[in-house]
Amino acid sequence: QLILGIESSCDETGVALVRVPAGGGLPQLLAHGLHSQIEMHRAYGGVVPELASRDHIRRVLPLTEQVLADAQVALADLDVVAFTRGPGLAGALLVGAGVACALGAALGKPVLGVHHLEGHLLSPFLSADAPQFPFVALLVSGGHTQLMRVDGVGQYTILGETIDDAAGEAFDKSAKLLGLPYPGGPELAKLAEGGNPQAFKLPRPLLHSGDLDFSFAGLKTAVLTQANKLGADLPAHKADLAASTQAAIVEVLVKKTVKAVQQSGMQRLVVAGGVGANRLLREQLNAVCAARGIRVHYPELHLCTDNGAMIAMAAAMRLQAGQQQADCSYAFDVKPRWPLDSITASA
Ligand code: ATP
Ligand code: MG
Ligand code: FE
Repeated sequence: QLILGIESSCDETGVALVRVPAGGGLPQLLAHGLHSQIEMHRAYGGVVPELASRDHIRRVLPLTEQVLADAQVALADLDVVAFTRGPGLAGALLVGAGVACALGAALGKPVLGVHHLEGHLLSPFLSADAPQFPFVALLVSGGHTQLMRVDGVGQYTILGETIDDAAGEAFDKSAKLLGLPYPGGPELAKLAEGGNPQAFKLPRPLLHSGDLDFSFAGLKTAVLTQANKLGADLPAHKADLAASTQAAIVEVLVKKTVKAVQQSGMQRLVVAGGVGANRLLREQLNAVCAARGIRVHYPELHLCTDNGAMIAMAAAMRLQAGQQQADCSYAFDVKPRWPLDSITASA
């Protein structure tokens, strides 16, 4: 089976093709293409939803043609067309949904709407070192920060989550306060390499709360207070403040994640989402997990942020897990808000 996946939930257009092996086993990525709109949105300091939708329209068909050509697959050979149904920006989601359903209708093939976070969550299955169920997952992206128990495809139990900002948002907002360009996460991480993480005392919210929830909204306020206090001296201490901010975010993520794994009694951790690309987070998780005999799995670095490969992969794994591919009505809708633990393996 050949499955095309289309991602358009935010500011990257992603298209990918995976093959489900006839004899079973993990689906294989044949080709994928990505166009990031980061340059376009940078002038505005963040994603402009209407510009995002229009750019998805421009990019999605050329990318699809390129992916099919790279894999040397004809359009007519596709068996299923998958797309990101939510959560995300409504207008942006509608582009991927519309194109996928139009393709499906034209080819007479079923379409499958995928949960974007399930895509992130299953993206480590595209790595050479793929995980096995069950595991605890730390999903850290631009819009979400959740600890989950994952027993299989569509079997997600939320153990804890942020009560306000996501970890990626904390990176992005703090970076903006430091005058770094959008998206600030990787920029702040780069700047932090040359800084002292102990230079500034920043809060570790909910570190000892006893539950597995997170809170990052107070951190950006603390960063703002420090930046204001430094005033004209900020440039000289920018790397130190960046390093201190990153250390605060990472420490809370690592401690709560290890606690979640220990409470679950499992020996396996999966990290997914854009912040999963963060070097300090990987270093610290690797160290504490190695000391406790916990195996950690990550997506490949370039598949941490949004991409089509994870959507095609999630669709393929859903089909393998028994989801009926009966959706041939092509009457599509999108779900800008959509809790991950509300889905099951069959729908
Ligand atoms: P969601 O998936 O929750 O809808 P999203 O799709 O915007 O949100 P992702 O694409 O998974 O999120 O990740 C983007 C986020 O990851 C941004 O907040 C970005 O700053 C952050 N990020 C990417 N690389 C790094 C890094 N090296 N260090 C820290 N943060 C990073
Ligand atoms: Mg993005
Ligand atoms: Fe995402």
